[in-house]
Amino acid sequence: ALSPAEVIWMDGEFVPWDAAQVHVLTQSLHYGWAVYEGIRAHETGQGLAVFRLRDHLARLARSARVYLMELPYSQEELVTAITDLIGTGGAGPRYVRPLVYLGYGSMGVALDVSAVRVALAAWAWQEPPTRDWRLMTSGWRRNHQDAIPPLAKATGGYVNSSLAKLAAVRAGYDDALLLTASGHVSECSAANVFLVREDVLYTPSVEQGILPGITRATVLALARAAGIPTVERPVAHAETYIADELFVTGTATGIVPVASVDDRPTASSGCGPITTVLRDAYQDAVHGRHPMADGWLTPV
Ligand code: PMP
Repeated sequence: ALSPAEVIWMDGEFVPWDAAQVHVLTQSLHYGWAVYEGIRAHETGQGLAVFRLRDHLARLARSARVYLMELPYSQEELVTAITDLIGTGGAGPRYVRPLVYLGYGSMGVALDVSAVRVALAAWAWQEPPTRDWRLMTSGWRRNHQDAIPPLAKATGGYVNSSLAKLAAVRAGYDDALLLTASGHVSECSAANVFLVREDVLYTPSVEQGILPGITRATVLALARAAGIPTVERPVAHAETYIADELFVTGTATGIVPVASVDDRPTASSGCGPITTVLRDAYQDAVHGRHPMADGWLTPV
């Protein structure tokens, strides 16, 4: 559940939560032309710190570039705005949602891409219940690279994620496993997918059509540091059925073990040994207890 904060940052100003409104003819509302991020601030020994903030903002800038939107603020201006915004909210972990969108302007499909607006919201983070996920392979294929590129985090692309997620949840699963048009593993509705076989960590490469997740990049770095071999390559759908371990990664999700795909249990029932190592290392990193964490944390 969303717990409102006092203010939302809109185009350089803090406005009261309930006053953070847009016109109904906002272009992005009609055409799904907006880009966004999902970021978290965790408690550390030195107080609240935002995890990989500059990496998230760099991805936001790349997403905006794909959609021809010029960001009116520099990365450092957004860093300051986000840490200031979190600072207005008191103690406790936070979720941060930057959104870059097209405001009121033309109403045709030849969008007025000059009407760029930026909003930053932050609210109290409630940890979801931790249990291993049961995945369902979705009948919906992941957006094709050449249609709505998954490498950009565009709001419109999430009609694909939501179609798949809702179908999976209604069928009693935790999330959907989406395949690419060629039938390879892409990702879940809002998380990347990893599998372990014979002590090697595999994950689909970015060219396969996935969001290059920040958590994914973190897990790859932590795995290399722990001496676990990592391979980014196309992953066949059937490989998920013969995995020793399977897990998903995301900012909101964290690292969650997958118990089964299409009711076929993963070999390791429960959290497997490599998943455990990586999950613990990730928890240490976000809370500032890992040697690699220094470069990843922005204090509030
Ligand atoms: N894939 C999709 C489609 C997502 O929405 C997300 C969540 N942002 C992820 C993967 C995981 O990315 P990250 O680790 O950067 O949160």
